[in-house]
Amino acid sequence: MAEVLIVGGGVVGLGLGMLLAADGQAVTNLERDAQEPPKDPEEAWDSWERRGVNQFRLPHIFMPRYREILEGELPDVAAAIGRDGTVRVHPVREAPESLTGGARPGDERYEILCGRRAVVERAVAAVADGTPGLEVRRGVAVAGLLGGPAAIGGIPHVTGVRTTAGEEIRADLVIDCGGRRSALPDWLEALGARRPDEEVEDSGFIYFGRHFRSRDGQLPAALGPGLQAYGSITALMLPADNGSWSVSLVARAGDRALLGLKDVDRWERTVRSLPTVAHWLEGDPIEDHVVTIAKIEDRHRDLRPDGVPVATGVVAVADAWSCTNPSLGRGASIGMLHAQALRDTLRKIGPDDPAGFSEAFAAATEATVEPWFQATRSFDRHRLAEMAAIAEGTIYDPGDPGYEMAKALESATSRDPDLFRAFLDIAFVLELPEVVLARPGLFDKVIEHGAGWRDEPAFGPDRAELVALANV
Ligand SMILES: Cc1cc2nc3c(=O)[nH]c(=O)nc-3n(C[C@H](O)[C@H](O)[C@H](O)COP(=O)(O)OP(=O)(O)OC[C@H]3O[C@@H](n4cnc5c(N)ncnc54)[C@H](O)[C@@H]3O)c2cc1C
Repeated sequence: MAEVLIVGGGVVGLGLGMLLAADGQAVTNLERDAQEPPKDPEEAWDSWERRGVNQFRLPHIFMPRYREILEGELPDVAAAIGRDGTVRVHPVREAPESLTGGARPGDERYEILCGRRAVVERAVAAVADGTPGLEVRRGVAVAGLLGGPAAIGGIPHVTGVRTTAGEEIRADLVIDCGGRRSALPDWLEALGARRPDEEVEDSGFIYFGRHFRSRDGQLPAALGPGLQAYGSITALMLPADNGSWSVSLVARAGDRALLGLKDVDRWERTVRSLPTVAHWLEGDPIEDHVVTIAKIEDRHRDLRPDGVPVATGVVAVADAWSCTNPSLGRGASIGMLHAQALRDTLRKIGPDDPAGFSEAFAAATEATVEPWFQATRSFDRHRLAEMAAIAEGTIYDPGDPGYEMAKALESATSRDPDLFRAFLDIAFVLELPEVVLARPGLFDKVIEHGAGWRDEPAFGPDRAELVALANV
């Protein structure tokens, strides 16, 4: 049994804590925000103070991969989330047979877990608090790392953390789950270690969103996927818990002609102009304004540049390792995949072999979550450039076969049941694109049904109409 310290008690930090405690590790989770999880979902939304998570009250949805991990590994958490008024949306069961080709074994994999972030996290936290082997200490902020005798010559070895209150807590392994703003590189530098290799860029998107609630607890019908590109904007419709949902418009932050979408009337008029989105306005708004978020960074940290660890005894998991623009809704899924990879690595190599553990976890990260990060960032970069081209009235043609294939598959989903499921496998973090596209005959089907994607008619307002709607 190892003593493990997790910095950060967000959705993944707590999920990881429960996975490790179930394996018999002695886990302490340190969370800077002091407030205990409230007693019920509405209180969580109204008054849970979570300054450590910027996106706490912003639209979230939990992809099938996240749900599947919870149901398989943490069934008590899945059950607690289910008791709090969250809903399951099944895009295959709810789609017409002409699209799905009828029910198939395995279709249950596509069920999405829908709930506001505060509601889902409250349930996760409530179960974590009662988990044997896991101690969650709220109101404890980590300020730095403690060092000990090196395991590899010349490389600092981490043996615990120091809190802002001056407490020193020792552990066999320190796991950073401090989220997208984690200060790990500074802590490592202060210990005399190299900083991790870090790639950071503004993802370049701006979100204009609002939550709604129906009086009868019903949710609007989905007329298409939750994420729909309408020229130079994307609409994002996310069902949530207890008759609530969110509608967001995503634009390029540099697209000044659309900044008027911050205004409630302009925002509403624009949403009404989108044929498959307008009916999502039929509810009572929860916020009286348009919630705007920009400057969301894509970040990637490599704690083993050139194959040499910056330090042993410490790793970064989930957003503290890497994070992207969130419109594909993959963060919690990728984070929990990473948590599983860490748990599985610890099953093979304990922290008493710091060099071996560091190498094995890096290999597990590379095999499990790195491809998802790369695929998501690539999607974002293409979509941003595509939005810019549409705004300028030009054609986006990056000459990238990966982009062509993704567009063709998206377009072909409505014409073949295998392609419909292939698209969902990728979108829902169930199978990597390269695995899906390697299925026998699939590539040819995508070409057959999707090669003409550029010729498809556009729905909704054209660019001039959109700009007018955002400014009048
Ligand atoms: C606008 C937006 C929308 C998103 N929508 C979705 C979505 O729809 N679906 C999805 O799956 N993902 C979504 N994500 C991503 C998702 O929110 C993250 O992937 C997820 O929160 C990562 O969980 P985590 O536990 O790694 O980090 P976080 O949830 O960020 O938690 C980090 C925790 O660490 C604590 N902490 C930080 N520093 C310290 C310290 N020094 N000492 C102690 N504690 C510390 C913080 O207080 C915080 O509680 C979205 C992200 C954004 C920005």
